[in-house]
Amino acid sequence: MAGREIGFIGLGIMGRPMARNLMKAGYSLTVYDVVGPAVEEIATDGATAASSSKEVAEKAPVVITMVPDSADSEAAILGPNGVLEGASKGSVVIDMSSIAPGTSQKIAAGCEAQGVDFLDAPVSGGEPGAVAGTLAIMVGGKKAVFDRHLDLLNAVGGSIVLCGDYGAGNTTKLANQIIVAANIAAVGEALVLAKKAGLDPNVVFNAIKGGLAGSTVLNAKAPMMIAGDFKPGFRIRLHQKDLHNAILTGKELGVPLPVTSLIQQMIGSLMNAGKGDADHSAIATFLEDMAGTKISGQ
Ligand code: NAD
Repeated sequence: MAGREIGFIGLGIMGRPMARNLMKAGYSLTVYDVVGPAVEEIATDGATAASSSKEVAEKAPVVITMVPDSADSEAAILGPNGVLEGASKGSVVIDMSSIAPGTSQKIAAGCEAQGVDFLDAPVSGGEPGAVAGTLAIMVGGKKAVFDRHLDLLNAVGGSIVLCGDYGAGNTTKLANQIIVAANIAAVGEALVLAKKAGLDPNVVFNAIKGGLAGSTVLNAKAPMMIAGDFKPGFRIRLHQKDLHNAILTGKELGVPLPVTSLIQQMIGSLMNAGKGDADHSAIATFLEDMAGTKISGQ
């Protein structure tokens, strides 16, 4: 079992509730984010504020990072004033950000070179899962390191699976994001069809949710489309990043990803329409615009 001192870097939509759940479980937190008010908010809840990732690592032998993309994880861990400048031998970095698997492997190599353990441990379950402490966590790294930190991952997660060596957590997360994106696009397309046929989309949702088309995505996102409420949640720009990382990884492995590529084009159009900060359920609005029909309203 790991110690009770944890450093937490990246206090956004996911990081804040995860940090709170760790404090609730009895861990002492030292926290940092490039955005000052996020640090102050969690410090008010009982964490110690730090002024850099380096300082976080100097204070805590276990450092969790929860930042947007590959470049951010690299900056926070490998960069100037980053975690590795402050970490001592035998400490561990757990990067819970969703990033490219190749970058996780690069960060792991940097950590190993300094005698620091590493796990890539991205999550699924969104903000509700982060608040409830029930995230699905997919982990890449060494089994002994995984076993030592299971207690702490349990404080933020409901399902925790070691998927393989470095990068395997993020490869699994890419698989997750492909399935979620395709599912959202299918739900949007289906509800647009139902609405234009004169049906009540809520009745259609209720009729199908117990059958084979039922899914966690359907249950979470159909009500948002029906209400026309696209408050994030998971921002479109983050899903664009994940699908970009999936397409890059597919290219490296020689795996065509035609479904992913099509949805990435829809997302590109939504970004141009200024919807990057909407919830990813707003992929449905691309399909609404094509059909000239809104799922929400009369
Ligand atoms: P967010 O943009 O709300 O938060 C990210 C935070 O990281 C921000 O507060 C930002 O200021 C901070 N940050 C960026 N670079 C930094 C650096 N170098 N040092 C310190 N802080 C830095 O994003 P989020 O929604 O919390 O997502 C975080 C990660 O979790 C992403 O990789 C995302 O894909 C993944 N994720 C998000 C959700 C979701 O529903 N929001 C679900 C599953 C996974």
